[in-house]
Amino acid sequence: MTFEELGLDARLIQATAELGYVNPTQIQEKAIPVLLSGTKDFIGLAQTGTGKTAAFGLPLLHIIDADERYPQALIVCPTRELCMQIVSEVELFKKHIKGVSVVAVYGGASIGLQIRDLKRGVQIVVATPGRLIDLIERKAINLEQIKYVVLDEADEMLNMGFKDDIEFILQNTPKRESTWLFSATMPPEIRKVSKKYMNEPFEVTVGKVNSGNKSIDHQYYITAAQHRYETLKRLIDFNPGIYGIIFTRTKVDAQDIAEKLTREGYDIDALHGDLTQAQRDKVMGEFRDKTLQLLIATDVAARGIDVHGITHVINYELPDDIEVYTHRSGRTGRAGNTGICMSIVHARETFKLKAIEKLIQAQFNRVDIPTGKDVTRKQFYAVMDKILETDISHGDYDTFLPMLQEKFADVSKDEILQRMAAVEFDRFLKYYENAEDLNLRDNGRQRPREFGSDRAVIPRDRARFETRGGDRDRGERGDRGSYGSGGGTTAGYARLFVNLGTKDGFYKASFLQFILDMSDLKKEVLGKVDMKDMNTWVEVEQGAAHQMIRCLDGKNYKGRRIRMNDANSR
Ligand code: AMP
Repeated sequence: MTFEELGLDARLIQATAELGYVNPTQIQEKAIPVLLSGTKDFIGLAQTGTGKTAAFGLPLLHIIDADERYPQALIVCPTRELCMQIVSEVELFKKHIKGVSVVAVYGGASIGLQIRDLKRGVQIVVATPGRLIDLIERKAINLEQIKYVVLDEADEMLNMGFKDDIEFILQNTPKRESTWLFSATMPPEIRKVSKKYMNEPFEVTVGKVNSGNKSIDHQYYITAAQHRYETLKRLIDFNPGIYGIIFTRTKVDAQDIAEKLTREGYDIDALHGDLTQAQRDKVMGEFRDKTLQLLIATDVAARGIDVHGITHVINYELPDDIEVYTHRSGRTGRAGNTGICMSIVHARETFKLKAIEKLIQAQFNRVDIPTGKDVTRKQFYAVMDKILETDISHGDYDTFLPMLQEKFADVSKDEILQRMAAVEFDRFLKYYENAEDLNLRDNGRQRPREFGSDRAVIPRDRARFETRGGDRDRGERGDRGSYGSGGGTTAGYARLFVNLGTKDGFYKASFLQFILDMSDLKKEVLGKVDMKDMNTWVEVEQGAAHQMIRCLDGKNYKGRRIRMNDANSR
């Protein structure tokens, strides 16, 4: 099919041709003819990288009225990065259409400037939910005339706790003629929202729902917990051309690992919740320019990041919430490229792999952690390739030749080659000379002792994990009763009360991540959690409870004072 056949305005077709789009992608082919009517609700289940921005961007530009300068279309998306990316794509699509303005409004930037942009008169507003609500409350934006609402990456928005905000936005667009919802997965909460606010939506699925991208090779590496960092280094060293994102569960890990790797000469920086917007922009800018080869991030900080050409995603640890795996791995293998998602797994986490396989409908491949010899060989070839591929056609290398010949007159060609290799290569050769095998072998004599003793931990860890996974499926109705606010506390744990709950936009997973990030504690300290609208009770290991309270009690969350105390001592 061609873009002409989809019925788009000639000016839009011209723009797509200039962008090098030859044929519409699958989602574009299915969505555009439906969306051009402007009156039909639509659900598009598609991963990022499938061309969905154009799937809604092109029809929006086709149907809005360029002569009327008030907001007619609203695109809501989870993050500032995605917001800016959508705007820049729409700008390219509208190149040949005069009089259409598109504005991005997102948190972390001057609201004054955004209000000024809005006042100039725009037809398309691209917004993150929080900032949009802020603008509505300040009466700086009028949604009265909005005809089209696009919810992009709806599942991510829900994951981030924006459900109430989205409902508020849908309730405050009275003239909405159609709602277009795009999502990579279809959790029950999104079904609920669509049932409530959409009218017989036309539903299109590209690829399998809930499935990870087919072009991703999902690999896992089993090692002992104390070798995680060393394994990470080996995976990086074994892939000299890597352009990747490493995910950690906590910001402390992200920061520590970034610092350690930087000291050891790697091009890496960390992205986590503690950075100011300016610091975050700097890191992202360097990563996009490829000044940084590696980015290490927590899930929260990395939400919505969209960088093209990522070759590898590395899970330093598997995420607690298995759905997060899809979001992490989806950063690679996009737009027809292939990618590799590597997970460093401890023996006691392997049970999670099965659950993830089911979710992504793809198989994991167990791969051995490369040996020191493997790494040195790989690096050696990389150095040779680099020498052979170096461009000497520009510059005055010819003029240096006599000088070089003189200097190396008594050195053989072989020796020169060896010396050149050594310049680049010595670091690896020395480092990996006596490198140990990092693989955790579960057969034979190599089986480390702690593997056996760890097994005692499995049932508790697994029970906790499954409870959490199950909660997601059951939505907010999770089986609270069994360990409700009045229930007993597990031995060894303190039960803490917090005045935050689902009304604050939290889900269990996002809440746990929040308290761990605030307290710099590891998820292993957490026990049962019971979340209500306004409050939550969470079990924290006795030894860690004090730190948790100290880090949260009295702090602010969205302008409200957090109260946390031991529920049993109240
Ligand atoms: P998205 O899923 O919107 O993030 O798009 C992923 C990438 O695919 C973007 O870089 C788009 O510019 C590109 N793209 C979108 N539609 C097409 C198309 N029809 N042909 C080629 N590339 C496309």
